[in-house]
Amino acid sequence: MERMQTIRLYDERPYDTDFQARIISAEAENGTISLILDQTLFFPEEGGQNPDSGTIEGLSVTDVQIKNGVITHKLACTEEAAAKLTPGRTVSGSIEWAGRFSNMQNHTGEHILSGILYKKYGYNNVGFHLSPQIVTLDTSGPLTEEQVRDLERAANQAVWENVAVTAEYPPEELLADMFYRSKTEIDGPVRVVTIEGYDACACCAPHVRRTGEVGLILILKHENYKGGTRFTFACGNRALEQVQKDRRILKSLTDTLTTSAEDLPANINGIMAESEARKQRGDRLMKRQAEMLIGQQPETEEDIWIFDPEYDVQARRILVNGLVKKTAGYAGIFCGDDEHGYDFVIGSEKKDAREQSTMLREKFGARGGGSPKMVQGHVNAGRKELEESLS
Ligand SMILES: [Zn+2]
Repeated sequence: MERMQTIRLYDERPYDTDFQARIISAEAENGTISLILDQTLFFPEEGGQNPDSGTIEGLSVTDVQIKNGVITHKLACTEEAAAKLTPGRTVSGSIEWAGRFSNMQNHTGEHILSGILYKKYGYNNVGFHLSPQIVTLDTSGPLTEEQVRDLERAANQAVWENVAVTAEYPPEELLADMFYRSKTEIDGPVRVVTIEGYDACACCAPHVRRTGEVGLILILKHENYKGGTRFTFACGNRALEQVQKDRRILKSLTDTLTTSAEDLPANINGIMAESEARKQRGDRLMKRQAEMLIGQQPETEEDIWIFDPEYDVQARRILVNGLVKKTAGYAGIFCGDDEHGYDFVIGSEKKDAREQSTMLREKFGARGGGSPKMVQGHVNAGRKELEESLS
């Protein structure tokens, strides 16, 4: 039996939040109940957009799905509450307005962007995603940095012009001669959303009445995507929240560096250049220090063990490579402390350095390994026990 399609109250009344409806069917299962109503204001998950949230009879609506025109609401529900939700009963529903209005702002914003992209470049919208966390739009062609800034300006111009946004089901004879963007062939009546002077597009979602309500269209990111462009953007309240967040980050940076926003890039570049120069000077000094130590080391039959936290990976290798030439035994360096353990490099020209890493693994659970000439790794042990084991 084919079910009657649900009457979509949000089609005609996108600004309403409260409604009454009759239960057509109710199926309870594991603390949830699936309700089909004769009509609803809840927009389901459709066309890349997340469903509305809200309540029915005071119970949280956790999901709304549409299949063959029939809308199913999923509610979190006790068995006791479920027993009252029987077919034929009238229920009250209420959608969460802040989330719905944000979706309306962002969805209309998407149509404005897509309409301009189509008119200006002939690009099609090939993907749209609107969730509480992110809004993305995929378009079919590439754009330069300057074209993206142009698009953002043109989209906001459409907002300032505050033109009408209308949604209607044109009669078939009119529809045949009408131009509208559409992603797929549509069976049955087509709902066309028109933004005066900017766009006409087949769409099932609620939109704002005039473009001014979109507030601000902010392109946050654009990247190459499957031969076209993926935009991440934010409109209205989301755009404001994003700007406020960015301002907070900027303020924290300018406060820390006691500079202005304008001077921030030059300031950071300066700090990075200075840090790189310091690092290189540090590397040179460390290398010089290692070479000095090697020069001072007399030739010996004994092993040479050095404990020093300062040497970096490169200097450790230089040191061990030099010291192995001075000893008939092992030369090794341990960098670290008793609390965090030691990074080690051990080498030998005459013995097998792997014997030492094996000993450290067996005795202290050390990690690492290498060749007969050189091993490296990390060991969690105290300096005193290490020195005793190495001697
Ligand atoms: Zn749409």
